[in-house]
Amino acid sequence: MAALDGLPPLREVIQRHGLDARKALGQNFLLDLNLTQKVARTAGALEDVTVFEVGPGPGGLTRAILALGAKKVIAVERDERCLPALAEIADHYPRRLEVIEGDALKTDFEAMATGGPIKIIANLPYNVGTQLLVNWLLPKTWPPFWQSLTLMFQKEVGKRIVASEDDDHYGRLGVLTGWRTNARMAFDIPPQAFTPPPKVTSTVVHLTPNENPIPCSVGNLEKVTQAAFGQRRKMLRQSLKPIGGESLLMKAGIDPARRAETLSVEEFCRLANSL
Ligand code: SAM
Repeated sequence: MAALDGLPPLREVIQRHGLDARKALGQNFLLDLNLTQKVARTAGALEDVTVFEVGPGPGGLTRAILALGAKKVIAVERDERCLPALAEIADHYPRRLEVIEGDALKTDFEAMATGGPIKIIANLPYNVGTQLLVNWLLPKTWPPFWQSLTLMFQKEVGKRIVASEDDDHYGRLGVLTGWRTNARMAFDIPPQAFTPPPKVTSTVVHLTPNENPIPCSVGNLEKVTQAAFGQRRKMLRQSLKPIGGESLLMKAGIDPARRAETLSVEEFCRLANSL
């Protein structure tokens, strides 16, 4: 990256700004410049695109996104220690990097999306990654304000995001992403690529919106998936008892002897619409 954007190597940046990684903030920094570019490239063309990034940290991924030509990056970072390092990047790319100090969970990304295409790219802090994804899957309007999500997760979470029926990882998250998006795992990143290395392998997941998801109430879909997967090994006639059991299943035309993990997203939507 030093060769590509003329900024100092990330190790030097981290040392100069005293950015020792804090576990509580999910700080596992990606310093491999080929990898940060590979993550950013997974999002596709970035020219004319405004990128929302969560947790830029010392800015490795941010620099890759800017070097690949994003019109603008708006990055939300909770750790104020990172701000001086990010200010150096902002100086290097005038008017193209805006850093917001704050908690991404409390940030209204939809309100920030004013005009022009938006892509979200992030090496997410593990403790808030799934919640952020769910928030981006449930904005006020659909199709959503974003064109794509390119997000790094622990590999086990990535498997749950892309899982469909008859897969052990299939659950509430898989139904939600399967309903509203096309999701794929792009590639894995081994622990040793991070500083400090996490305990598990990470994976980059790429999601694009399904423009016309089956019409269905989010609240009802949540109710049926929560009940069904709450007791995933039981037959649906048993697990769905608190919300209508056998009569609900008959109304939706689903065999009460089936189990949650055998139902397609379309069948979950039918159940939700029969509630
Ligand atoms: N993007 C950098 C990289 O790839 O090397 C850092 C990624 S690190 C896994 C996660 C980053 O998210 C850290 O910089 C951490 O301070 C930040 N972070 C943690 N919780 C956050 C939150 N709730 N809102 C915004 N940023 C957060």
